[in-house]
Amino acid sequence: MPAAARKRRDELVDLVNEARANYYQHDKPTISDADYDKYFQELVELETKHPELVAGDSPTQSVGGEASDEFGEFEHPTRMWSLDNVFDYEELDAWFARVGNHNFLCELKIDGLAINAVYRNGVLETLATRGSGAVGENVTASLEYLTCIPKQLTASKGTKFPELLEVRGEVYFSLAEFDQINLEVTATGRTAFANPRNAAAGTLRQRIDNRVAAVAEATKRAEGKTADSKQVASLTKHSDELQRATSALSRLGLIVHGIGTHEGFEIPTQSHAYELLKSWGLPTSDRVKVLKSVAEVKKYVEHHGEHRHDIEHDIDGVVIKVDSLAEQDELGFTARAPRWAIAYKYPPTVVRTRLLDIGVQVGRTGRITPRAAVEPVLVAGSTVSFATLHNGYEVVRKGLLLGDMVFLRKAGDVIPEILGPVVELRDGSEREFQMPTKCPECGSKLAPEKEDDKDLRCLNTRSCPAQLRGRLEHLGSRSILDIEGLGEKAARALLEDKIISDEGDLFSLTAEILQQSDFFVKGANRELAENAKLLLAQLEIAKTKPLWRFICALSMRHIGPPTAQALTREFTSLERIAAAPAEKLAQIEGIGQTIAESITQWFAEDWHAEIIEKWKRAGCVLEQELVESGPQPLAGLTIVVTGTMVDFTRDGASEEITSRGGKASGSVSKNTDFVVVGPGAGSKETKAIELGRPILDEAGFKILLSDGPAAALAHLGLA
Ligand SMILES: [Zn+2]
Repeated sequence: MPAAARKRRDELVDLVNEARANYYQHDKPTISDADYDKYFQELVELETKHPELVAGDSPTQSVGGEASDEFGEFEHPTRMWSLDNVFDYEELDAWFARVGNHNFLCELKIDGLAINAVYRNGVLETLATRGSGAVGENVTASLEYLTCIPKQLTASKGTKFPELLEVRGEVYFSLAEFDQINLEVTATGRTAFANPRNAAAGTLRQRIDNRVAAVAEATKRAEGKTADSKQVASLTKHSDELQRATSALSRLGLIVHGIGTHEGFEIPTQSHAYELLKSWGLPTSDRVKVLKSVAEVKKYVEHHGEHRHDIEHDIDGVVIKVDSLAEQDELGFTARAPRWAIAYKYPPTVVRTRLLDIGVQVGRTGRITPRAAVEPVLVAGSTVSFATLHNGYEVVRKGLLLGDMVFLRKAGDVIPEILGPVVELRDGSEREFQMPTKCPECGSKLAPEKEDDKDLRCLNTRSCPAQLRGRLEHLGSRSILDIEGLGEKAARALLEDKIISDEGDLFSLTAEILQQSDFFVKGANRELAENAKLLLAQLEIAKTKPLWRFICALSMRHIGPPTAQALTREFTSLERIAAAPAEKLAQIEGIGQTIAESITQWFAEDWHAEIIEKWKRAGCVLEQELVESGPQPLAGLTIVVTGTMVDFTRDGASEEITSRGGKASGSVSKNTDFVVVGPGAGSKETKAIELGRPILDEAGFKILLSDGPAAALAHLGLA
């Protein structure tokens, strides 16, 4: 056996064991899950190749997560196992080959903390973490504050509960709660939780009884006859800590996914066990499926891989179990895991990388957004070099220093974000980030718009190049005036070559004017290039687009397509909107007093009026023809559109709905009449299914528009 293999094996054992200690005993991971999995996998492979290297200290021989000695020990009546992982279909196929044909129960692998709840005659007696698998930590003291777990099982009359029942499950934070908890943590200068599982562990594994005792003690002192201000402050501090801790506990969720010891009754399958647990009031997942073939299991794996970010909590994979308990028994266990179950792990969404620098960007409305430059890192299939930080305040709130190692998350199409620093890895060379005081593009002084505003803005709205560029790009985008040829580069060229001074000059552009810019010509004779011809043609088409699109093109704050459409219906021309008093504007749906006032202020600005004047002179149609309002087949209906469609943009679809008297809404409720679903629809589709609302595809939507609700229901076979 080569010495190099032994050396590497020792290194890997140390790496994994150290990571496990930081993770399980201190709830502070210092490496990402991805790195942990990589090291662990490399160790497994090395040991498979050189079986003589396998020794007792190897983490491959134990479950991981020795119980912390801060808690009372709890010996699980039946051992809790860890699961083996696979990372691709090749490995999954190898597992299928080993176990043979079965019915497979598939469920989501929640990113949470495994727990064991012991019920005696239907009453919850003990709650423990998994710990080493044989012995866990007794966290029963926290029970009082948990809302996610029933203290007493419910049953129909006559049911006799098993004398002893062990229920296994996962406590977790939803993604929304996780983000909130993390902000609470980083605000006090501590390392962010790398993932929801870690946050759940940190929350459940705290001596809540000690906190309660500390408050009682502090209360006694602070209320004593000779209490001083220090004692009062100490009481406040302990009370705050207890309040934070109990509040976090109450926000934990639970999904159960197994049973251990169950005295006095038999069950044939894993899925029967779930049914039973559900009937007793325990929270099971409605995403569990029993599937009969490898192909179906793979479809399940793929589906949830694609939709993993539409789920309210984080998942890191799918768990596949042989459903029959008799067949499970036959397959048995290895030293650390059952042979009858496997976890298919998705690529990790959280990685560790270094925060190199923070720059700022200036948006279309002058808003300054810090943007983090990080050491390029591969996450969820793409290389990330930048991450968003909503405002300067966020940098402070997350406790970030330049040069910090940080946890970074990229979930789906969302812009990557930094969760927080790994405080333990600082070496003193980190520097504080200073929010600039001047606009990096025009040098104007930055200021919040209102005193308590968290955002800084460049107030040079009229001529800040970044804002001008942003407005031009916005105006040309598909959802506004849809001007092909007016992208970021074209906007930059038009401004930098001084072809236009602002958006007012846009619609009076001619071939002669464009020829002055290198960007719009080709060849030695400076002939007009294709991009210029395209731009001119598109500008011509845009001139007669609906009024609401022009309203959006003005980049007024707070005015999106729905509001612009409402304004158009009420006032039918830009002139009349400009002349309307704030009180009248405030009556429009989606516009309150504040927005109404900001609209009137916007129109009062001379250079804004000039833009409108120039557009009018260039031939833009800034009014809606007063056509007899057409038939209103959708009057009184609320319709939600989600996902993408071939023939409609999202705004185009809502325009079609509102022009027929319907209401286009953004969220699904029981009052929604139709939900139009295209590819890529996420949680709204799920919600629609849950609430049993009629779901239309694009074809069905067209029928709804042309023939009304009865025809659409008939199309679904519902009428
Ligand atoms: Zn500026």
